[in-house]
Amino acid sequence: MANYLELYPWQIKAWERVVESLGRLPHAILFTGTEGIGKLRFATRLAVALLCEGEEKSPCGECRNCRLFSSGTHPDLHVLTSETKLESMDSVLVSYADRYLDDQSSRAKRKNPRSTIVIDQIRALIESANVKPHLSVNKVFVIDPVDSMTNAGANSLLKVLEEPAPNTFLVLIAQSTQNLLPTITSRCQKLLLPVPESEQIEQWLMQLKLRPQQISAIQQCGKGPIVGLQQLQNDEILRSTAFVSTVLKQLQRHKQRDLFELIELGIQLGEAECLDELLRLVSKLIREVAVVRERNQKGDTLLSEIALRTDQRKLFLIYDHIGLLRNQIRAGGLDKTLAVEDALIAIDNCVR
Ligand SMILES: [Zn+2]
Repeated sequence: MANYLELYPWQIKAWERVVESLGRLPHAILFTGTEGIGKLRFATRLAVALLCEGEEKSPCGECRNCRLFSSGTHPDLHVLTSETKLESMDSVLVSYADRYLDDQSSRAKRKNPRSTIVIDQIRALIESANVKPHLSVNKVFVIDPVDSMTNAGANSLLKVLEEPAPNTFLVLIAQSTQNLLPTITSRCQKLLLPVPESEQIEQWLMQLKLRPQQISAIQQCGKGPIVGLQQLQNDEILRSTAFVSTVLKQLQRHKQRDLFELIELGIQLGEAECLDELLRLVSKLIREVAVVRERNQKGDTLLSEIALRTDQRKLFLIYDHIGLLRNQIRAGGLDKTLAVEDALIAIDNCVR
């Protein structure tokens, strides 16, 4: 089963209650709760449980329906979202949500991605809702965030809520009912999802092996742990990209490279992450040196230009060396700053 369906620890009790009533759920359920607490994952798990043909329906993770869900191709699961929300969605759900959005090229033409669920999406939903389930007994539509629907969209959705097709479930998600038409909320069973206690968040993040500074950054972001974690990961990706590109720019110079700048950036990134990035960089360089030699000329990238001036034999040696340094600092047996310095000096020595 895709990890994606795993519940967050603070959702377990709420899930037990939902499972108990699975056989008699109304056709429309509205999950509410603050940002970043995992509403979409909870709702998706319910959607898959409704499609699952396993006996426990928890969902089983093994039946045809569960496996198709994980591969992103279940024909009876439909996900409607906005273009902005899509950007932070897990990849398994993106394949479902994409079907209801404009194609990539039309989206690319817009200056900013749309933050609303538009009437065309609801029209497409109505069309799908009128078709019998293809594979499962049920057919499920997840709409997140339902309060980002345009008015026209909301009015169209009302029709589906008023005259539900048989074996069709709508699972709606919003932060609160505040911005929803009362005619919509009154036709749904509402369930407020729990906000985790700060201790629960801390324990969960510790299980993910995050560092104390990272945990407190997430705790303080004020947007719920899931959003906090995503932001942290995005920031770290940006910082890693910036670090690698600075290393490359320094290596491009023939002399007077500023290793102190790199060491400082590497430490800011976190020593272990820095060494991971350097390992990836060295392995890319090894490949690039081979490519440059085979072509007998350099390509037009910075990496290729550097590869031309790189001693390949030394590269293999420092790859092993940096790997060793990384393992040693992970095991706590080496001064971290020294390890970063050592790795950067080694790379500097390979490039003329
Ligand atoms: Zn199943």
